[in-house]
Amino acid sequence: MSENIDYKFLWAETVAKVKSEIGEKDFNRWFKLEFAGASKNTIILATSPLVVDQINNRYPGILENSLQNQAAGFSIKFVFNEPVIENPNEQNVKTSLTKKTTQPIANVRESPNIKTKMSCFLDEYTFTNYVIGENNEFAVNAAQVVAQNPGVNISYNPLFIYGGVGLGKTHLIQAIGNYINENSDHKVVYTSCEEFFNEFIACINVDKSLMKNFKRKYRESDILIVDDIHFLEGKERAQEELFNTFNALYKSKKQMVFTCDRPAIELKKIAERLRTRLGSGISIDIKIPKYETRYAILNKKIETMKTELTKDIIDLICKNIKTNIRDMVSALNKLNGYQKLTNKKITLEIAQDLLKDIFASPYQTNITIESIIHIISFQFGLTINDIKGKSRKKNIVYPRQLAMYIARQITTFTVSEIGNVFNRDHSTVLHSIDAIEERKLNNPHEESYINDLINTIKEQSIK
Ligand code: ADP
Ligand code: MG
Repeated sequence: MSENIDYKFLWAETVAKVKSEIGEKDFNRWFKLEFAGASKNTIILATSPLVVDQINNRYPGILENSLQNQAAGFSIKFVFNEPVIENPNEQNVKTSLTKKTTQPIANVRESPNIKTKMSCFLDEYTFTNYVIGENNEFAVNAAQVVAQNPGVNISYNPLFIYGGVGLGKTHLIQAIGNYINENSDHKVVYTSCEEFFNEFIACINVDKSLMKNFKRKYRESDILIVDDIHFLEGKERAQEELFNTFNALYKSKKQMVFTCDRPAIELKKIAERLRTRLGSGISIDIKIPKYETRYAILNKKIETMKTELTKDIIDLICKNIKTNIRDMVSALNKLNGYQKLTNKKITLEIAQDLLKDIFASPYQTNITIESIIHIISFQFGLTINDIKGKSRKKNIVYPRQLAMYIARQITTFTVSEIGNVFNRDHSTVLHSIDAIEERKLNNPHEESYINDLINTIKEQSIK
């Protein structure tokens, strides 16, 4: 019997019913669904998990009810688009919110007002251009929730995204800004922390009358996005200003987004009351991407830059640059520039030669916490078990603290990740870092000794 049912028509009728209930504008805004087929009295719709969340929150049951009004016992099933990027090696790598069959959320333009785009957002820093991998999927999800519903969910306020240099924090928060600018009339204010600080200082030192405008600009925003909050360490008055801004915005349920190079808890030179607030919403890290994700990101960049590179060169870059996407992009720019300048096709040999300096940067070595422990235990005549073990003997505690300190200095692992390797929690790592910092203050040779040790570790880590 079900073979005779015109499911597409049924779906069109359901849409018409929902539209008549909530209005066409809201329907178009939230119901980004596409008829993808049907089976056994079930209509299958293609969409994204976020869209389903939105619909469930805003209009629970409306789709099912409208459908069942016309065809009792019928149901709806969602399938999620997870397009695969062209790379035979990869698994589990998705491009955010893109698929040809469904209108990408990031491209929806339906605001009736023509808005001038804020110049502080780079056009290419969109969700569409952001590759989702295992290293950033939670951060992207949260960013999308916030972009679609700023300030609504209190547990997402503030959204605090942290991670090492060049891992895509700025791109992601700019994507939030771009998305909101495209899709709503909310007033988004974006600033780097450095800019915030400089503006603040100018108000104090140059012209006090500017302070009113400064305060107003930030406190009257609907969404405040502040990049690189760690820059505020040790800058007490600016911290106080941000603290007050935070409170004002939080009270009026305005969304805030921050990025940082480390978890809020590690911002030792930020006043505790501000630090606590920064970490009071949702904190998510962006980790170092795996090879497959790096490959997909580079492919995406190549696509947006409308350039071309052979697979062996993409592979060369991804294998040699492991910890910093920005360096991968620099490598790409360098090859692109050379190609344009010389009009020559880039071979693997040319690429290798052009990129050798970038590849030699110490950050590109694959230094692991384990390799640091290995080298330090050897240097101190200890075993790895000594370093990871429980002994409180002085001759073991110091190298252990040193290993934790150096791990924090030369890798992008968080204190919690470092703690895990040492069978300890993050507070022990923080304590060790403090202990070594103190030794550095009290002992003039400590610094150069540590630097030598770091150089040894780097040298031994270069493959
Ligand atoms: P951060 O702010 O963490 O230092 P950025 O956001 O400046 O890093 O990213 C550095 C470069 O890497 C940018 O060109 C950005 O577009 C690119 N990038 C990083 N992660 C991704 C990703 N997942 N997808 C696409 N591009 C990315
Ligand atoms: Mg940045």
